Amino acid sequence: MGIFREKPYPIHRDDRAECEKYSSYLGTLIVDFNKRCGYCNDLHSYRIRSFAIDHFVPRNPKDFIHPIAPNFYKNLVYSCNYCNGAKSNKFPTKNHELHYENNIGFVFPTDEKYNDLFYREDDGTIMPEDDNPLAIYIIDELNLNNPIHSLMWRFEKLINLAKIIRQKIDETKDPDLINLKNELLEEYFEITQNIFENND
Ligand SMILES: [Zn+2]
Repeated sequence: MGIFREKPYPIHRDDRAECEKYSSYLGTLIVDFNKRCGYCNDLHSYRIRSFAIDHFVPRNPKDFIHPIAPNFYKNLVYSCNYCNGAKSNKFPTKNHELHYENNIGFVFPTDEKYNDLFYREDDGTIMPEDDNPLAIYIIDELNLNNPIHSLMWRFEKLINLAKIIRQKIDETKDPDLINLKNELLEEYFEITQNIFENND
């Protein structure tokens, strides 16, 4: 069991308001969300074309209590296509000032509360902390238990491991270590190619 996501957490800046085209915030959002999907925390590396901007409060809300400016920066979430597609127009409270009610609805990913909703199984699967019913709702609605997210989590661990090996090689120039690294890289490219071809 481990924490859902490490620091730095995603943030929203206070000096942004509304702009004509929400896509003009893409660069800002990539930085503010640390190149990660706000919902599942997947890193965008290797899947960068599969990331988009999600509108937390949907762009075309029907029957909403108050309309919200759809391009308002603080309504935008850097998101992978899996979460963006799953979230779609879902916003059960139909009130942009009330993100959830009676454990139904969503928590904004930059909200500190988002960190405490989930934990990770040893294989990276996202689970609800203490069977929190709101966390269960979010996992179900965003399909956060889709195996792609645990695969991406494990993939990131592998990348970090490879970095450590590379550092050791730089220090020791050990030929056995170099062979081992090459073997590992071959294996890893083969596996990851399969993952991304089948999932993107
Ligand atoms: Zn995601």
